[in-house]
Amino acid sequence: MAWTRRQFLRTVLSASAASAFPTLALPYSHRFPRESDPADESLVEAWHYEKLPHKKIRCTLCPRECVIDDQERGYCGVRENRGGVYYTLVYGKPCTWHVDPIEKKPLFHFIPGTKAFSISTVGCNIECKFCQNWQISQIRPEQSVDYVASPGEIAWAADATGCASIAYTYAEPVIFYEYMYDCAVEGRKRDVRSVMISNGYINREPMRQLCKVLDAVKIDFKAYTERFYRELCRGHLKPVLDTLVLLKQMGIWFEMVYLVVPTQNDSPDEIRQMCRWILQELGPDVPLHFTRFYPQYKMRNLPPTPVKTLERAWEIARDEGLHFVYIGNVPGHRAESTYCPSCDRRLIYRIGYAVEVEGLRNGRCAHCGREIPGVWL
Ligand code: SF4
Repeated sequence: MAWTRRQFLRTVLSASAASAFPTLALPYSHRFPRESDPADESLVEAWHYEKLPHKKIRCTLCPRECVIDDQERGYCGVRENRGGVYYTLVYGKPCTWHVDPIEKKPLFHFIPGTKAFSISTVGCNIECKFCQNWQISQIRPEQSVDYVASPGEIAWAADATGCASIAYTYAEPVIFYEYMYDCAVEGRKRDVRSVMISNGYINREPMRQLCKVLDAVKIDFKAYTERFYRELCRGHLKPVLDTLVLLKQMGIWFEMVYLVVPTQNDSPDEIRQMCRWILQELGPDVPLHFTRFYPQYKMRNLPPTPVKTLERAWEIARDEGLHFVYIGNVPGHRAESTYCPSCDRRLIYRIGYAVEVEGLRNGRCAHCGREIPGVWL
C-alpha cells in the first residue's frame, strides 16, 4: 500500500515526539488509551467555516479567519481543506491526558479540591514565545503520537478516575473545538462538568455556542497592550477583550490568569489600566491570578518574575477594587488562599495544590455570611 505524505511524516516523527510529553498510564482499562493507527484517515467536518469560490474556504472559528486553498491548512495546522470541505484533523485524537487538581488550571472558585480529567490535542492558533507547552502546541498532527478516544470514552475515563470535570487544556482547545464540545456533551450525561483553559482567541458565535455546554472558563490574558500580543504572541488584544465581555454576558463562571513577564507586561501603569478595565467591564468579582513567569521556549533570556513584582501587581489590583486577587507559582504565599472581601477571614486555605475549604458554607462566608461568587459543591 502506498503511504500518504501524512502517514510517512507521522511514522518518521512520532518516535522523537513520543518522549516530549509523557502521558499518565491509566490502570483500569484495556480499551483506553489506544494509539491511533497511522492509516486512520477518519475526519470530522469543521463546524465553523464558509465556502468560497474555487474550492477555497474561510475558517470562522477564530479571529485569524484564515482563507485556505484546496489541500492547504490554516495557521493552527490542524484543519485542512479537502476539495472545498474543511475538516478537523484532531477530532478524537488527544495527544496527552492527566488527572490534575482543578487548582492547577488554575480555577480557584470552581469546586475546589476536586480533580479534572485533562486532555489536549496538538496545535494552537497563536504562538507565545514563552509557551510552557510548546512541545505540543507548536507541532502538527504528523509530529505527535496521538491516541484514539471518542467523546464518550473521555467522559467515561473522567468518571472512572473520580474526576468532577473534564479540562480542555495544555495546548489551545479552540483548535479542537468540535471534539471539546462533544466531550462536554458526553460528560454531562455522566454528571461530569467541563472547563476550558484558553487564550480566549475565538470568534463570538463559536464561543457563544460553547458556553451552553461548558461550566467554567479560564482565560490566559497575556497583556493589556496590543504590542505584547502582536510581538510576543502573534495575535491581537481586542478579540480577547471581546471574549471576556461575552463570557460575562453569558453568565458562565470564568477566571483570569495574567502571567507577569519581567520587562514585558509588568509595568504598574499597564496593570492598573487592566484592572480598571476589568472593574468597569467585568465587575469586581472575577478572580485574577498573577502568576510567576519562568524562562521557557523562545524567552529564556529573562529571569523568573521577582516575587516583589507579583506582590506589587496584587496590591494594585486590590487597590483598584478587585475582590479576589491571587499570586500563583509561588507555593505557600499568603495570596494563594481565598479571603472574604467583607470580613477578610480566610475561606479557602491553599499551599500549592493542597486545599482546605475552612470558612465557606453553602457559597457564603461562614463568618459574616457574605455571598462568595463561584461554583461550589
Ligand atoms: S482556527 Fe485555525 S484555521 Fe481557523 S481561523 Fe483560527 S488559526 Fe485559522
